[in-house]
Order: sequence, then C-alpha cells, then structure tokens
Amino acid sequence: SIKSSLGDIQEPFVDVPTFFFNSLRRHNVFTRGCDPRPVFIDDARAQRPKGLTLDRLEIACTRLASGLYHNVGVRQGDVIAVVLPNSIYYPVVLMASLMVGASCTLANPAYTPRELHHQLKDTQARHIVTTAALCATVASAVELDAASIGKCQLLVVDRTRPKASTLPVHTIFEVSDRRRYPRFRLTSAKTVESKVAFIPYSSGTTGLPKGVLLSHRNIVANVLQAASANDTAAPVDASTCAGVLPMFHSFGLTFICLLMPYMGVSTVVMSRFEMGRFLEIIQDYRVSETMLPPPIVNAMAKMPDLLEKYDLSSLLSVTVGAAPLSSSTIAVIEKQLPNVCIQNGYGLSEASPAISLNSIATRNTQSIGHLLPSIEAKVLDADGRLLGYDESGELCFRGPNVMLGYLNNPAETSLAIDSDGFLHTGDIGHINQEQHLFITDRKKELIKFNGFQVAPAELECLLLQHPLVRDCAVAGVFDSERQTEVPKAYLVLAASDAEQNTHAGQEIVEWLNAQVAYFKQLRGGFKVIDAIPRNASGKILRRLLN
Ligand code: AMP
Repeated sequence: SIKSSLGDIQEPFVDVPTFFFNSLRRHNVFTRGCDPRPVFIDDARAQRPKGLTLDRLEIACTRLASGLYHNVGVRQGDVIAVVLPNSIYYPVVLMASLMVGASCTLANPAYTPRELHHQLKDTQARHIVTTAALCATVASAVELDAASIGKCQLLVVDRTRPKASTLPVHTIFEVSDRRRYPRFRLTSAKTVESKVAFIPYSSGTTGLPKGVLLSHRNIVANVLQAASANDTAAPVDASTCAGVLPMFHSFGLTFICLLMPYMGVSTVVMSRFEMGRFLEIIQDYRVSETMLPPPIVNAMAKMPDLLEKYDLSSLLSVTVGAAPLSSSTIAVIEKQLPNVCIQNGYGLSEASPAISLNSIATRNTQSIGHLLPSIEAKVLDADGRLLGYDESGELCFRGPNVMLGYLNNPAETSLAIDSDGFLHTGDIGHINQEQHLFITDRKKELIKFNGFQVAPAELECLLLQHPLVRDCAVAGVFDSERQTEVPKAYLVLAASDAEQNTHAGQEIVEWLNAQVAYFKQLRGGFKVIDAIPRNASGKILRRLLN
C-alpha cells in the first residue's frame, strides 16, 4: 500500500464538542473581550446580533443540551434526527445533541415523507429536530407507518409552534443556562473510536441508502487531516468563508461546521443558494475562501458578466469536491478571478469525507488532490490484485477517518471494508508517484446529480411498483447543458404497444418524480426497451444500457 507522504496527524482523542470548543478558544479573534468575531454569521438576519460569537455559541449549546436532557428526555445512546436547512443554529443542534451523549442522523431537508421515513425507521430516532416549515413533511414521514417507527417527538426549533403536539421552543432550550445536565465526555482512545457521533446516509457501492456510522474520532481526525492541506494565502486567523455546502452532507458537516472554526475562520451561512446573493456576500464580507460543488463553479465560469459586477478581489481559495470538475473550468475561473486558486478535493461520506485535497503548494489541476496525512491507499484490479503507481483500478483507503460501518448492515459493511481495514470506494482511478489521485471512472452504481447522491436501486424499487412496469433499470447519463449526471429510466412495459409506449413512459416518469426529492427526478427521461441486460446472477449490466 501507499502511505501518505505527509506523515500522521496528532490525534487529541476527545469528543467532537470538546474538540470544537477547544478549537475556537485557540483563536484570539473569537475570544477577545469586547469585540469577538462571530463564528457563524446569519446572512438572512437584518437586525443585530447577526451571528453567534463563541460566548453565544456556548450558551446556546448549553441551554439546548440542558433542555434536551431535562425537558425532552434525551439520554445517552439516543439517536436524534436532524431535518434542518442550513442555519447558524445547525451546529448548535449537533453539538448539544452530542453533549448529552446522543448521536445525530442528518437528513436532507428536501426529502419527501417516503424518503425521510426510510431513515427514521432505520435509525429508530426518537426525536426529530426540524423547523415549522418542514413540520408537515416530517409528521407525514412518521405517520406513513407509525408502528415501525415507534413513538417519536418532533422538536420545532424556530419561534412558531405549528402543531399543539410539538414542544414549545422555550422548553427545548432550557431558559436557565445554569440548570445542570450530565455533560457527556469521551476521554479514552477506545471510546472516542467506538462512539458514533453522526449518521449521514449514503448508498455506498450498491443498493439503498444506508446509515454511515461516523465516530467522534473519525470526524476529529478528518478535520485535522483537511486542516493540514489548508495553506491558503489568506491571513487565516481573521478571514471569512461563504458557507454554501449543505451541512447535512459530510462535506458541509466537516468543512463548514468544524474545519472553518478550527482554522479561526468565520462563516457566513447561506440557507439557500442564490448566485447573486452569493457574490454579494463575497463582496460585502470580504470573503477569502469558500467550498463549492462543481455545478456552482461551472455556472460561475459561464457568467463572466455577472462576476464583473462584484468586487471579488478578496476571494483567494475555493475548495471543490463531491463530483468531477474539469481543469478547463478551473482555468476559466482563474483567468477571470486572478486572485483565486481552485483546489480540487475528493472524498466520500464513508471517509468523513476527505481523502485527498490539493493545496496551493501541492496543486495539480488535473488531479483530485494529494493523499491526506494518516491515510494509506491501495489500488486493486478487477480480480483484487494490488496495482502500482499510475495503474488504474479501484481506489481503496485506510485511515482514522474511515467509518465504523453501515448501520444495521454487517453484510454491506464487510463488502465495503475489507479484513485489512481498507474502504473499497467503488471509484476507479490511479495514484502517481507524487501521491496525486486521479479519478477516471466509477465502478459503483451511484449517480451524482449536482453532487447529491441518487441510488439507482431506490428508483428501480419504486418503478417496479408501477402497474405498467414489468422490469426496469436506472443509470446515469451526462447532461452537458447542466454539466452533471442525471438519472434515466430504462423500462420494460407490461403490455408493449409502440403507440402507447411514449404516453405510458411519461406517465410513469411523472408518477415517480412526485415521490422523490428534486435531485432524484428522472431528468434524463426514459427509454422503453425489450429486456434489461443482466448477468447470470441477475445483476443489471448498466453499461449495456444506452
Ligand atoms: P458522497 O458520499 O455523497 O460524498 O459521494 C462520494 C462519491 O462522490 C465518491 O465516491 C465519488 O464517486 C464522487 N466524488 C467525490 N469527489 C469527487 C471528485 N473530486 N471527482 C469525482 N468524483 C467525486
């Protein structure tokens, strides 16, 4: 195997909230008496205070932890489902939950009740933190099959109280911050390694979305690993980041909620992306760094006139990951914005997520980054034989950031993590002598729409429930206009009649689209075919679909 040339990180072996607050206290900008910088800034809020300073963060976390313990009844080992859009309170909900010893499962707030139901049932979350706007969706998700979910308490953390059955917000946040609760702490390497902090969802290499068990150690290690690659030219200690990535996804979770505070960087949190407002934030707050998914960078590259309208001279570093970004797009942006350095990165939820990042010092614009410290890599051919530098095969990684496994799924866990502890990513690529990683293909079924996961198996299961569908397969096709993969359905219809096929196909697509979140919709359309190509064991041969 190839061991990172950057050496090993020094792990502090503490729980995530302890690490988070210790990180913040390291920085003068966050602690200075009369004029501390906020850690998270609320872009949407007109009146002051617009942000959470370290003091206010500590008070908010303590009050919420105390409320969760005394008034809601959360106990160590419970799972709390977090169904929230980005806000400055998102990290507060996460830290407070961990401070009472619970774990958080993170759900996409765009989910439909059916999608959310799967996650609630799988995690057996007893408490769901959400907003008034999402309350009806969450309640429907619970009611879909209340018996399989069990008794579930909705915690609505904004001011309005949409349902009498939900707890009022002043109960969730204990009013007196002096009321004590047993603060959950981890001090030994063993407990830090085994205690689950977060459970995001990922379909991995095959099948339905599964709960990814990320320990306190996984998260802390990945923050330190990513920090080692962050060598932006900005005076890091007083700079500002534009927080665009969704915090329920591991990229946003680790980079925005934890890495930026660790680096001493304040983050302006955007709850909804809008290009004009994003550029205005860079200008108004003198933002020096941001992390983006490729579609936003692609969109920026196509809008030179819009970029011209703003003073973006403060922007120095843009870290991009979650899907491929072409080096030609990097060149276009860097020509337009000469101060900017675009740093490609690669990771996956199962690795908390970062595996490789380009830093200014080690950058190679064709590559998805340099292997981070404490990570070992191996590349395997289709028969599982070890390959060398520059040889193309499946990328596999071992390190302190690799998940514990999938929730309730030992079979999938042992397929994903081999007996030597290497995570098999399902991504095809190679590593060169300088330890730069390159991705060229994907062996796994996964489709990525704008960086969001779409599991073909999930859409296939749904399609098979339609009375007109006899057999089906879903695969990703590249949409060059949108510069992303989109899911497309291949349908074998129950009663095939060329005249009616188009009509039936459209009806099936509409029927499916109504049941899934926007990013899973069949934007690639459909094709009616005679038979789905399968191998001898019944596995769909997606490559033969076109
Ligand atoms: P997720 O768990 O949602 O973060 O998805 C992880 C998957 O996204 C990886 O296994 C890759 O297939 C893909 N991915 C992430 N970063 C990149 C990148 N820089 N280039 C190409 N694909 C990527």
